[in-house]
Amino acid sequence: MDRELEGKVALVTGGGNGIGQAAALAFAREGARVVVCDWDWHAGEETVARILRQGGDAQFISADVSKESDVAKLLAGVVRRYDRLDIAFNNAGISGVQGPLAGLSEADFSHVLAVNLTGVFLCMKHELIQMEKQGAGSIINNASILGTVGFAGAGAYTATKHGVLGLTKVAAIEYATKGIRVNAVCPGFIETPMLERTGLLSDAKIRKSIEDLHAVKRLGTSAEVAEAVVFLASSRSSFITGHPLLVDGGFVSM
Ligand code: NAD
Repeated sequence: MDRELEGKVALVTGGGNGIGQAAALAFAREGARVVVCDWDWHAGEETVARILRQGGDAQFISADVSKESDVAKLLAGVVRRYDRLDIAFNNAGISGVQGPLAGLSEADFSHVLAVNLTGVFLCMKHELIQMEKQGAGSIINNASILGTVGFAGAGAYTATKHGVLGLTKVAAIEYATKGIRVNAVCPGFIETPMLERTGLLSDAKIRKSIEDLHAVKRLGTSAEVAEAVVFLASSRSSFITGHPLLVDGGFVSM
């Protein structure tokens, strides 16, 4: 069977763990040459090593997506190595401090904003500059179900994910006639290091209550999100742009 992304150049931010790692592996499986970006050098290199072991082509570039100088260097590195950028999965994100809005400090709010929203904006900006030169490209942003609904205790995170969908829609309109599609995935609760760090999964009762928020009564896997990302990256989704694709096991339908 033909591989869907043969010869394409794909960038994944936050590719060292969780959903980003699964997407990097799926891109490579489909024949893409993958640039894995993360601010965690060890995690990013581990993803690259896994791709190389499977016979793929990958490179690690370290960057903090909330810093424009890092993002500019990242894109320069991609173009220096591969001469182009066909696919970008803007996935790097943090959960930030949880709790009611009135207890949130300005510093905590700003930190989540810097990574989850400014980071996606900066990546999109530099990716769009390159893709416009090529007259082609597919950008996929990782939002969340919390880009579409509210969730108590996650004010900063929810605000950033709504913002990511706003940026996705605007860029989709601005670049639609320039050969560039811009979409987003909106995952439900996915079993990743981020979710594990919250400690919620180690309490069986809390875990069950989170699972029950999804119609399918379970958490999602990173691989399930990665398949949706591959679809949006591929020519199978050629008439889809500005779309927030729910990968949520029925969470939002409940
Ligand atoms: P994760 O913590 O398992 O992995 C995130 C990766 O991003 C890590 O390798 C981390 O080092 C990297 N990263 C974080 N900040 C960075 C920065 N400033 N610059 C570069 N790299 C950075 O998280 P995950 O659960 O895989 O989440 C990935 C994305 O999916 C996030 O945007 C998250 O908001 C979104 N998401 C996750 C879930 C979930 O339930 N896990 C649900 C919906 C959306």
